[in-house]
Amino acid sequence: MKGEIISVGTELLLGEVVDTNSNYLALQLPLVGIDLRWISTVGDSLDGLIEVFHRAIGRSDIIIATGGLGPTGDDLTREAIAAVLGETPSVNEALLEGLRAFFLRFGRTMSPHNIKQATLIPSAEAIVNPRGTAPGWWVEKGMSTIVAIPGPPGEMQRMWEIEVAPRLQKKIFGHFKICRTLKCFGRGEAETDELIASMYLLKNPDLGIYAKPDGIHLRLVAMAGKEIEAREMLDSAEVRLRDILGDSVWGSDSETLETVTGELLARLGLKLATMESVTGGLLASTVTDVPGSSGYFQGGLISYTSESKSLFGVEAGLIEKHGAVSHETAQAMADVARCRFNADIGLATTGVAGPDPMEGKPPGLVYIAISDHRGTRSVEAHYPPRRPDVKRLAVIHALFLLRQVLLELEPEGGHQWGLSSA
Ligand code: AMP
Ligand code: MG
Repeated sequence: MKGEIISVGTELLLGEVVDTNSNYLALQLPLVGIDLRWISTVGDSLDGLIEVFHRAIGRSDIIIATGGLGPTGDDLTREAIAAVLGETPSVNEALLEGLRAFFLRFGRTMSPHNIKQATLIPSAEAIVNPRGTAPGWWVEKGMSTIVAIPGPPGEMQRMWEIEVAPRLQKKIFGHFKICRTLKCFGRGEAETDELIASMYLLKNPDLGIYAKPDGIHLRLVAMAGKEIEAREMLDSAEVRLRDILGDSVWGSDSETLETVTGELLARLGLKLATMESVTGGLLASTVTDVPGSSGYFQGGLISYTSESKSLFGVEAGLIEKHGAVSHETAQAMADVARCRFNADIGLATTGVAGPDPMEGKPPGLVYIAISDHRGTRSVEAHYPPRRPDVKRLAVIHALFLLRQVLLELEPEGGHQWGLSSA
Protein backbone atom coordinates (compact mmCIF):
# COMPACT_ATOMS: atom_id res chain seq x y z
CA MET A 1 0.00 0.00 0.00
CA LYS A 2 1.65 3.18 -1.19
CA GLY A 3 0.90 6.14 1.04
CA GLU A 4 1.13 9.89 0.74
CA ILE A 5 0.68 12.73 3.22
CA ILE A 6 -0.62 16.13 2.19
CA SER A 7 -0.29 19.00 4.66
CA VAL A 8 -2.56 21.89 3.87
CA GLY A 9 -2.06 25.49 4.94
CA THR A 10 -0.34 28.64 3.74
CA GLU A 11 1.00 29.14 7.28
CA LEU A 12 3.06 25.97 6.80
CA LEU A 13 4.56 27.23 3.54
CA LEU A 14 5.45 30.53 5.17
CA GLY A 15 7.21 28.72 8.01
CA GLU A 16 4.97 30.33 10.61
CA VAL A 17 3.66 26.96 11.78
CA VAL A 18 5.93 23.92 11.86
CA ASP A 19 4.40 20.92 10.10
CA THR A 20 4.32 18.56 13.07
CA ASN A 21 1.34 16.67 11.62
CA SER A 22 3.43 15.15 8.81
CA ASN A 23 6.10 14.16 11.27
CA TYR A 24 3.54 12.46 13.52
CA LEU A 25 1.84 10.68 10.64
CA ALA A 26 5.13 9.60 9.06
CA LEU A 27 5.92 7.77 12.30
CA GLN A 28 2.42 6.24 12.43
CA LEU A 29 1.86 5.07 8.84
CA PRO A 30 4.39 2.18 8.89
CA LEU A 31 2.67 0.82 11.98
CA VAL A 32 -0.53 0.20 10.03
CA GLY A 33 1.31 -1.24 7.06
CA ILE A 34 1.44 1.81 4.80
CA ASP A 35 4.56 2.40 2.79
CA LEU A 36 4.89 6.20 2.91
CA ARG A 37 6.31 7.48 -0.38
CA TRP A 38 5.59 11.20 -0.48
CA ILE A 39 4.91 14.17 1.79
CA SER A 40 3.63 17.35 0.17
CA THR A 41 2.87 20.73 1.67
CA VAL A 42 0.43 22.97 -0.16
CA GLY A 43 -0.98 26.42 0.54
CA ASP A 44 -4.64 27.41 0.81
CA SER A 45 -5.30 27.79 -2.90
CA LEU A 46 -7.91 25.73 -4.72
CA ASP A 47 -5.75 25.32 -7.84
CA GLY A 48 -2.73 24.20 -5.83
CA LEU A 49 -4.81 21.77 -3.80
CA ILE A 50 -6.46 20.28 -6.87
CA GLU A 51 -3.07 19.77 -8.50
CA VAL A 52 -1.63 18.02 -5.42
CA PHE A 53 -4.68 15.77 -4.89
CA HIS A 54 -4.81 14.93 -8.59
CA ARG A 55 -1.16 13.84 -8.54
CA ALA A 56 -1.65 11.89 -5.31
CA ILE A 57 -4.62 9.93 -6.67
CA GLY A 58 -2.52 8.95 -9.68
CA ARG A 59 0.31 7.46 -7.65
CA SER A 60 -0.83 6.51 -4.12
CA ASP A 61 -3.31 4.01 -2.70
CA ILE A 62 -3.85 5.89 0.56
CA ILE A 63 -3.74 9.65 0.89
CA ILE A 64 -3.83 11.26 4.32
CA ALA A 65 -4.49 15.02 4.24
CA THR A 66 -4.44 17.29 7.27
CA GLY A 67 -5.69 20.87 7.52
CA GLY A 68 -8.00 22.99 5.44
CA LEU A 69 -11.19 21.66 7.03
CA GLY A 70 -11.99 24.80 9.01
CA PRO A 71 -15.04 27.03 8.46
CA THR A 72 -13.25 29.93 6.74
CA GLY A 73 -13.06 30.78 3.07
CA ASP A 74 -9.43 29.68 2.83
CA ASP A 75 -10.14 26.15 4.13
CA LEU A 76 -10.53 24.39 0.81
CA THR A 77 -9.59 20.73 1.29
CA ARG A 78 -13.19 19.50 0.92
CA GLU A 79 -13.73 21.58 -2.20
CA ALA A 80 -10.51 20.29 -3.77
CA ILE A 81 -11.30 16.62 -3.12
CA ALA A 82 -14.79 17.11 -4.55
CA ALA A 83 -13.38 18.79 -7.67
CA VAL A 84 -10.73 16.12 -8.27
CA LEU A 85 -13.30 13.33 -7.95
CA GLY A 86 -15.90 15.22 -10.01
CA GLU A 87 -18.49 15.21 -7.23
CA THR A 88 -20.64 17.94 -5.71
CA PRO A 89 -20.73 18.58 -1.95
CA SER A 90 -24.08 18.86 -0.25
CA VAL A 91 -25.14 19.55 3.32
CA ASN A 92 -25.70 16.45 5.42
CA GLU A 93 -28.57 17.02 7.85
CA ALA A 94 -27.25 14.70 10.54
CA LEU A 95 -23.86 16.42 10.50
CA LEU A 96 -25.53 19.83 10.65
CA GLU A 97 -27.53 18.73 13.70
CA GLY A 98 -24.35 17.49 15.34
CA LEU A 99 -22.61 20.78 14.64
CA ARG A 100 -25.52 22.77 16.12
CA ALA A 101 -25.42 20.58 19.22
CA PHE A 102 -21.64 21.17 19.52
CA PHE A 103 -22.14 24.94 19.60
CA LEU A 104 -25.08 24.66 21.99
CA ARG A 105 -22.97 22.66 24.44
CA PHE A 106 -20.46 25.53 24.61
CA GLY A 107 -23.19 28.19 24.73
CA ARG A 108 -22.18 29.71 21.40
CA THR A 109 -24.22 30.45 18.30
CA MET A 110 -23.17 28.81 15.07
CA SER A 111 -22.00 31.04 12.25
CA PRO A 112 -23.38 30.32 8.75
CA HIS A 113 -19.74 29.83 7.75
CA ASN A 114 -19.69 26.61 9.76
CA ILE A 115 -22.33 25.04 7.52
CA LYS A 116 -19.72 23.91 5.02
CA GLN A 117 -18.22 21.75 7.75
CA ALA A 118 -21.44 19.70 7.56
CA THR A 119 -21.03 18.90 3.87
CA LEU A 120 -20.19 15.57 2.24
CA ILE A 121 -19.75 14.23 -1.28
CA PRO A 122 -21.37 10.89 -2.27
CA SER A 123 -18.03 9.02 -1.89
CA ALA A 124 -17.31 10.51 1.52
CA GLU A 125 -18.22 9.41 4.99
CA ALA A 126 -17.82 11.73 7.97
CA ILE A 127 -15.27 10.89 10.68
CA VAL A 128 -16.40 12.09 14.11
CA ASN A 129 -14.39 14.78 15.86
CA PRO A 130 -15.46 15.36 19.47
CA ARG A 131 -12.62 17.88 19.93
CA GLY A 132 -13.66 20.36 17.26
CA THR A 133 -16.20 21.52 14.72
CA ALA A 134 -14.63 19.92 11.64
CA PRO A 135 -15.50 16.28 11.01
CA GLY A 136 -12.97 14.38 8.93
CA TRP A 137 -13.73 12.84 5.56
CA TRP A 138 -13.19 9.18 4.69
CA VAL A 139 -13.38 8.95 0.90
CA GLU A 140 -13.19 5.77 -1.14
CA LYS A 141 -13.36 5.94 -4.90
CA GLY A 142 -11.89 3.52 -7.42
CA MET A 143 -8.52 2.34 -6.12
CA SER A 144 -7.95 5.38 -3.93
CA THR A 145 -8.68 6.09 -0.31
CA ILE A 146 -8.45 9.69 0.82
CA VAL A 147 -8.64 10.49 4.51
CA ALA A 148 -8.97 14.19 5.33
CA ILE A 149 -8.23 15.09 8.97
CA PRO A 150 -8.46 18.52 10.67
CA GLY A 151 -5.20 20.43 11.13
CA PRO A 152 -5.06 21.24 14.87
CA PRO A 153 -2.60 18.64 16.18
CA GLY A 154 -4.76 17.62 19.17
CA GLU A 155 -7.78 16.94 16.93
CA MET A 156 -5.63 15.28 14.29
CA GLN A 157 -3.92 12.87 16.70
CA ARG A 158 -7.13 11.79 18.40
CA MET A 159 -8.86 11.21 15.08
CA TRP A 160 -5.88 9.24 13.78
CA GLU A 161 -5.56 7.06 16.86
CA ILE A 162 -9.22 6.35 17.57
CA GLU A 163 -10.93 6.55 14.19
CA VAL A 164 -8.47 6.26 11.33
CA ALA A 165 -5.62 3.91 12.30
CA PRO A 166 -7.82 0.96 13.41
CA ARG A 167 -9.85 1.23 10.21
CA LEU A 168 -6.77 1.37 8.00
CA GLN A 169 -5.24 -1.54 9.89
CA LYS A 170 -8.31 -3.65 9.11
CA LYS A 171 -8.29 -2.58 5.48
CA ILE A 172 -4.61 -3.40 5.01
CA PHE A 173 -4.69 -6.63 7.02
CA GLY A 174 -2.04 -9.01 5.77
CA HIS A 175 0.67 -6.37 5.80
CA PHE A 176 1.63 -5.86 9.40
CA LYS A 177 4.65 -3.62 9.54
CA ILE A 178 6.78 -2.92 12.60
CA CYS A 179 10.06 -1.08 13.08
CA ARG A 180 13.00 -1.38 15.43
CA THR A 181 16.03 0.87 15.67
CA LEU A 182 19.43 -0.29 16.89
CA LYS A 183 21.84 2.44 17.98
CA CYS A 184 25.63 2.15 17.58
CA PHE A 185 28.67 4.26 18.36
CA GLY A 186 32.34 4.03 17.52
CA ARG A 187 32.34 3.31 13.79
CA GLY A 188 31.57 5.60 10.88
CA GLU A 189 28.52 5.23 8.66
CA ALA A 190 30.50 3.75 5.75
CA GLU A 191 32.38 1.24 7.89
CA THR A 192 29.18 0.09 9.60
CA ASP A 193 27.48 -0.16 6.23
CA GLU A 194 30.27 -2.37 4.90
CA LEU A 195 30.08 -4.70 7.91
CA ILE A 196 26.34 -5.22 7.63
CA ALA A 197 26.21 -5.38 3.83
CA SER A 198 24.93 -9.00 3.84
CA MET A 199 21.87 -7.92 5.84
CA TYR A 200 20.63 -5.75 2.97
CA LEU A 201 20.00 -8.91 0.95
CA LEU A 202 17.22 -9.90 3.36
CA LYS A 203 14.74 -7.28 2.06
CA ASN A 204 12.34 -8.30 4.86
CA PRO A 205 13.14 -6.96 7.38
CA ASP A 206 14.24 -4.02 5.35
CA LEU A 207 17.37 -2.34 6.72
CA GLY A 208 18.22 1.38 6.67
CA ILE A 209 21.28 3.13 8.08
CA TYR A 210 21.28 6.72 9.34
CA ALA A 211 23.95 8.94 10.91
CA LYS A 212 22.39 10.61 13.96
CA PRO A 213 23.71 12.94 16.68
CA ASP A 214 24.23 9.99 19.04
CA GLY A 215 25.89 7.68 16.51
CA ILE A 216 24.69 5.39 13.77
CA HIS A 217 21.10 4.17 13.80
CA LEU A 218 20.10 0.95 12.04
CA ARG A 219 16.39 0.82 11.31
CA LEU A 220 14.73 -2.54 10.67
CA VAL A 221 11.23 -2.71 9.20
CA ALA A 222 9.55 -6.12 9.13
CA MET A 223 6.35 -6.93 7.29
CA ALA A 224 4.20 -10.00 7.91
CA GLY A 225 0.63 -11.22 8.08
CA LYS A 226 0.66 -11.31 11.88
CA GLU A 227 2.27 -9.02 14.42
CA ILE A 228 4.05 -11.91 16.15
CA GLU A 229 5.62 -13.05 12.85
CA ALA A 230 6.92 -9.54 12.19
CA ARG A 231 8.34 -9.40 15.72
CA GLU A 232 10.11 -12.74 15.29
CA MET A 233 11.66 -11.51 12.06
CA LEU A 234 12.94 -8.41 13.87
CA ASP A 235 14.30 -10.49 16.75
CA SER A 236 16.38 -12.74 14.52
CA ALA A 237 17.69 -9.82 12.42
CA GLU A 238 18.65 -8.02 15.64
CA VAL A 239 20.61 -11.05 16.86
CA ARG A 240 22.52 -11.16 13.56
CA LEU A 241 23.29 -7.44 13.66
CA ARG A 242 24.50 -7.62 17.26
CA ASP A 243 26.69 -10.58 16.31
CA ILE A 244 28.31 -8.54 13.57
CA LEU A 245 28.64 -5.23 15.41
CA GLY A 246 29.33 -6.49 18.94
CA ASP A 247 29.53 -3.97 21.74
CA SER A 248 29.23 -0.97 19.47
CA VAL A 249 25.45 -1.52 19.64
CA TRP A 250 24.53 0.34 22.81
CA GLY A 251 20.75 0.48 22.69
CA SER A 252 17.52 0.37 20.76
CA ASP A 253 14.38 2.39 19.99
CA SER A 254 13.75 5.05 22.64
CA GLU A 255 16.86 4.28 24.69
CA THR A 256 19.51 6.98 25.09
CA LEU A 257 23.08 6.60 26.33
CA GLU A 258 22.11 8.39 29.53
CA THR A 259 19.22 6.01 30.23
CA VAL A 260 21.31 2.95 29.31
CA THR A 261 24.25 3.96 31.55
CA GLY A 262 21.85 5.09 34.28
CA GLU A 263 20.21 1.66 34.36
CA LEU A 264 23.59 -0.06 34.52
CA LEU A 265 24.82 2.19 37.33
CA ALA A 266 21.63 1.60 39.31
CA ARG A 267 21.76 -2.15 38.73
CA LEU A 268 25.42 -2.42 39.76
CA GLY A 269 24.92 -0.07 42.70
CA LEU A 270 27.80 2.16 41.54
CA LYS A 271 28.18 5.92 41.98
CA LEU A 272 29.37 8.27 39.26
CA ALA A 273 31.05 11.69 39.46
CA THR A 274 32.26 13.97 36.67
CA MET A 275 34.86 16.67 36.12
CA GLU A 276 34.39 18.63 32.93
CA SER A 277 36.34 21.17 31.00
CA VAL A 278 35.47 21.17 27.30
CA THR A 279 31.86 20.01 27.81
CA GLY A 280 31.20 22.86 30.28
CA GLY A 281 28.65 20.94 32.36
CA LEU A 282 26.80 19.31 29.46
CA LEU A 283 27.91 15.86 30.62
CA ALA A 284 26.44 16.31 34.10
CA SER A 285 23.36 17.94 32.60
CA THR A 286 22.82 14.97 30.25
CA VAL A 287 23.33 12.42 33.01
CA THR A 288 20.74 14.23 35.16
CA ASP A 289 18.16 14.29 32.36
CA VAL A 290 17.21 10.82 33.57
CA PRO A 291 14.62 10.58 36.37
CA GLY A 292 16.18 8.89 39.39
CA SER A 293 19.74 9.91 38.48
CA SER A 294 20.25 11.15 42.04
CA GLY A 295 20.42 7.46 42.94
CA TYR A 296 23.78 7.07 41.18
CA PHE A 297 25.14 10.51 40.23
CA GLN A 298 27.15 12.05 43.08
CA GLY A 299 27.96 15.36 41.39
CA GLY A 300 30.20 17.11 38.94
CA LEU A 301 32.88 19.79 38.77
CA ILE A 302 33.28 22.25 35.93
CA SER A 303 36.86 23.50 35.70
CA TYR A 304 37.25 25.62 32.63
CA THR A 305 40.72 27.03 33.29
CA SER A 306 44.01 25.37 34.24
CA GLU A 307 43.93 27.36 37.47
CA SER A 308 40.54 25.98 38.47
CA LYS A 309 41.65 22.47 37.54
CA SER A 310 44.52 22.68 40.01
CA LEU A 311 42.26 24.39 42.56
CA PHE A 312 40.15 21.22 42.55
CA GLY A 313 43.22 19.01 42.94
CA VAL A 314 44.81 18.40 39.54
CA GLU A 315 48.56 18.87 40.04
CA ALA A 316 49.63 22.20 38.52
CA GLY A 317 52.99 20.73 37.47
CA LEU A 318 51.26 17.98 35.53
CA ILE A 319 49.15 20.48 33.58
CA GLU A 320 52.27 22.56 32.90
CA LYS A 321 54.21 19.57 31.67
CA HIS A 322 51.57 17.89 29.47
CA GLY A 323 49.08 20.69 28.81
CA ALA A 324 45.46 21.11 29.90
CA VAL A 325 44.40 19.13 26.85
CA SER A 326 46.19 15.82 27.29
CA HIS A 327 45.74 12.20 28.36
CA GLU A 328 47.50 12.98 31.62
CA THR A 329 45.29 15.92 32.64
CA ALA A 330 42.12 14.08 31.60
CA GLN A 331 43.13 11.10 33.75
CA ALA A 332 44.01 13.29 36.72
CA MET A 333 40.60 14.99 36.39
CA ALA A 334 38.80 11.61 36.39
CA ASP A 335 40.73 10.65 39.56
CA VAL A 336 39.87 13.96 41.22
CA ALA A 337 36.16 13.50 40.40
CA ARG A 338 36.17 9.97 41.80
CA CYS A 339 38.01 10.90 45.02
CA ARG A 340 36.37 14.26 45.76
CA PHE A 341 32.86 12.84 45.43
CA ASN A 342 33.69 9.50 46.99
CA ALA A 343 32.36 7.84 43.85
CA ASP A 344 33.09 4.46 42.25
CA ILE A 345 33.63 5.94 38.79
CA GLY A 346 35.09 9.29 37.74
CA LEU A 347 34.48 10.54 34.22
CA ALA A 348 36.29 13.56 32.78
CA THR A 349 36.52 15.59 29.57
CA THR A 350 39.14 18.08 28.39
CA GLY A 351 39.63 19.39 24.88
CA VAL A 352 39.68 22.24 22.40
CA ALA A 353 36.14 23.35 21.51
CA GLY A 354 37.44 25.86 18.94
CA PRO A 355 37.27 27.73 16.72
CA ASP A 356 40.90 28.60 17.59
CA PRO A 357 43.67 26.16 18.47
CA MET A 358 44.87 26.00 22.08
CA GLU A 359 48.33 25.06 23.37
CA GLY A 360 49.14 24.45 19.71
CA LYS A 361 46.44 21.76 19.64
CA PRO A 362 43.72 21.75 16.97
CA PRO A 363 40.02 22.47 17.64
CA GLY A 364 38.03 19.28 17.93
CA LEU A 365 40.76 17.42 19.86
CA VAL A 366 39.28 15.90 23.04
CA TYR A 367 40.53 13.57 25.77
CA ILE A 368 38.03 11.58 27.79
CA ALA A 369 39.17 9.71 30.89
CA ILE A 370 37.50 7.21 33.15
CA SER A 371 38.65 6.08 36.54
CA ASP A 372 37.51 3.12 38.63
CA HIS A 373 39.03 0.94 41.38
CA ARG A 374 41.17 -0.90 38.80
CA GLY A 375 42.88 2.21 37.44
CA THR A 376 42.40 5.12 35.05
CA ARG A 377 42.26 5.12 31.26
CA SER A 378 41.71 7.72 28.61
CA VAL A 379 40.94 8.02 24.91
CA GLU A 380 41.87 10.65 22.36
CA ALA A 381 39.19 11.74 19.91
CA HIS A 382 39.02 14.16 16.98
CA TYR A 383 35.63 15.68 16.19
CA PRO A 384 34.53 18.12 13.49
CA PRO A 385 35.64 21.47 14.99
CA ARG A 386 32.28 23.18 15.58
CA ARG A 387 31.85 24.17 19.23
CA PRO A 388 28.36 22.73 19.85
CA ASP A 389 29.27 19.51 17.97
CA VAL A 390 32.52 19.07 19.90
CA LYS A 391 30.68 19.38 23.22
CA ARG A 392 27.80 17.11 22.16
CA LEU A 393 30.05 14.43 20.66
CA ALA A 394 32.36 14.45 23.68
CA VAL A 395 29.35 13.82 25.94
CA ILE A 396 28.09 10.95 23.75
CA HIS A 397 31.58 9.47 23.59
CA ALA A 398 32.09 9.78 27.36
CA LEU A 399 28.79 8.03 28.07
CA PHE A 400 29.67 5.32 25.56
CA LEU A 401 32.99 4.72 27.39
CA LEU A 402 31.12 4.70 30.68
CA ARG A 403 28.83 2.00 29.29
CA GLN A 404 31.82 -0.09 28.20
CA VAL A 405 33.41 0.12 31.66
CA LEU A 406 30.11 -0.73 33.35
CA LEU A 407 29.72 -3.80 31.14
CA GLU A 408 33.20 -4.88 32.21
CA LEU A 409 32.27 -4.39 35.84
CA GLU A 410 29.14 -6.49 35.49
CA PRO A 411 29.70 -9.75 37.36
CA GLU A 412 28.53 -11.86 34.40
CA GLY A 413 30.00 -9.73 31.61
CA GLY A 414 33.67 -9.46 32.45
CA HIS A 415 34.66 -8.93 28.82
CA GLN A 416 37.62 -6.77 27.89
CA TRP A 417 37.79 -3.99 25.36
CA GLY A 418 40.61 -1.95 23.95
CA LEU A 419 41.04 1.65 25.11
CA SER A 420 44.10 3.45 23.88
CA SER A 421 45.63 4.30 27.26
CA ALA A 422 48.24 6.95 27.74
P1 AMP B 1 -6.95 24.11 9.58
O1 AMP B 1 -7.58 22.76 9.75
O2 AMP B 1 -6.28 24.25 8.26
O3 AMP B 1 -7.93 25.21 9.84
O4 AMP B 1 -5.80 24.25 10.65
C1 AMP B 1 -6.04 24.74 11.95
C2 AMP B 1 -4.76 24.97 12.71
O5 AMP B 1 -4.06 23.72 12.89
C3 AMP B 1 -3.72 25.84 11.98
O6 AMP B 1 -3.90 27.19 12.23
C4 AMP B 1 -2.43 25.37 12.55
O7 AMP B 1 -2.13 26.05 13.75
C5 AMP B 1 -2.69 23.92 12.86
N1 AMP B 1 -2.12 23.09 11.81
C6 AMP B 1 -2.61 22.87 10.57
N2 AMP B 1 -1.84 22.05 9.87
C7 AMP B 1 -0.80 21.71 10.69
C8 AMP B 1 0.33 20.86 10.54
N3 AMP B 1 0.55 20.20 9.40
N4 AMP B 1 1.20 20.76 11.57
C9 AMP B 1 0.96 21.44 12.71
N5 AMP B 1 -0.10 22.24 12.91
C10 AMP B 1 -0.99 22.38 11.92
MG1 MG C 1 -5.85 26.10 7.36
